Amino acid sequence: MLVYSIPMRNRFRGITVRQGVLLEGSAGWGEFCAFEDYSDAESAPWLACALESAQDGWPAPVRSRIPVNCTVPVVSAERAHAIVAASGCSTAKVKVADPGSVLASDLERVAAVRDALGPSGAIRVDANMAWDVDEAVVAIRALERAARGLEYVEQPCRTIEELAAVRRRVDVRIAADESIRRAEDPLRVAVAGAADVAVIKVAPLGGVRRALAVAEACGLPCVVSSAVETSVGMAAGLALAGALPELDFACGLGTLALLDGDVAVDSLRPVDGWLPVPAQAPAPDRFADFAADPETTDRWLTRLDRVRGVLEHAGRTF
Ligand SMILES: [Mg+2]
Repeated sequence: MLVYSIPMRNRFRGITVRQGVLLEGSAGWGEFCAFEDYSDAESAPWLACALESAQDGWPAPVRSRIPVNCTVPVVSAERAHAIVAASGCSTAKVKVADPGSVLASDLERVAAVRDALGPSGAIRVDANMAWDVDEAVVAIRALERAARGLEYVEQPCRTIEELAAVRRRVDVRIAADESIRRAEDPLRVAVAGAADVAVIKVAPLGGVRRALAVAEACGLPCVVSSAVETSVGMAAGLALAGALPELDFACGLGTLALLDGDVAVDSLRPVDGWLPVPAQAPAPDRFADFAADPETTDRWLTRLDRVRGVLEHAGRTF
């Protein structure tokens, strides 16, 4: 087992360095990198995902490559245009409703993104729960006009009930992201009529097979997103995107650029907006560049041991 530590290019979820454990089994490599504010119980599905990758391998894919979106953070309209043009992606995800920013600058930014993408590109915006229902309705209508069409709006409000209320009042599709963190959540979102699209992540849902079952049960079109893993963990997200019976939207798996390096030589960085569906996770052949210090290594291996205890208690052995 190898513990890595890779600096982030920008602060994300309040962290500046990404850490996790790479483990090798009979089927290859897997990655355990539950965020450190997650409890052992919340982290158990992440370990199940890593073990599936390392020990069992994944179900056969139905497609060989996955379209991914580029991500536009809260930047000037000019910078947004440049990011999209340089990405080669035909789908852009634009961050909006950042605390301290105003709607007018969001409108300018999405207009610049439309300019860069052209009329056939797809624009989705992510509000990360920032609005109440009335604010969301006003902002979404204005963004839809400025963008000349939105593919969907991700998590405009905090609760499932608010998402459902917004969805009744606007024509743009609503996607649930933060509302989906556990395997039971997509079903609740679907039953409440709260979203048209589910953003799913393979590790919090417990691996590719479990996530496929969740996707089928909720009956919503799914977008596979990453949890900012190295290429080892990212491969599992691509395996999920590759095995979903339907894939109507580009996925949020182009996130290796957020890390200042990668453990694999065959890094899963998108080319012209596409990523391959790998048969297994790449080997961490550049691990030596990112080996964690002894204290970090000790902390993660101790944590992994505790989470393994949770999994074993639930009947999963390894
Ligand atoms: Mg989101």
